[in-house]
Amino acid sequence: MERIYCKNCLRETPAYPCPLCGYDPEAAPAVSQALEQCILHGRYLTGRALEKTPIGISYKALDLEENRPVSIREFFPAGQAQRQPDGSLSWLTPPHPEGALGTHSQMPEDVVLDSFSENNTIYTVFRPAAPSRKRPPQVRKKESEWLPFLLALLLFLLTIAAALPLLACLHP
Ligand SMILES: [Zn+2]
Repeated sequence: MERIYCKNCLRETPAYPCPLCGYDPEAAPAVSQALEQCILHGRYLTGRALEKTPIGISYKALDLEENRPVSIREFFPAGQAQRQPDGSLSWLTPPHPEGALGTHSQMPEDVVLDSFSENNTIYTVFRPAAPSRKRPPQVRKKESEWLPFLLALLLFLLTIAAALPLLACLHP
């Protein structure tokens, strides 16, 4: 059986809907002119297009060399370029490379993993956005909460200890 890479989880899967993540391309909204499931720069397999903005398309992708998930942004300004059948872009108006660079200048530097030009445009590889992991609230009780109970218990035990000889006297 031929195996494919799921466009969503980028793991090998026998067919869609993907049994690993449930993704079904027929049910998912398609991004027009996206370049899904292509190998870029000889090592990045593009998955599904996540969003199209006025400056480009971002994709889920797999770094085949490092075998890790990445995000790729393709510089593809709306109205300025068109996708050709071979995947490359043809420019209606000359591209401004500063525009492509500007798209990731807002990102922290350690997030950008790679950048290359291919298909007549520029691609930027990012570390995928990590799901926000909030630390669970600490459940350790504060001293002020358990101290009164401890003192009450101690007082109770002392009272019993003091009463024992008395009881012994009453019942010889
Ligand atoms: Zn999947």
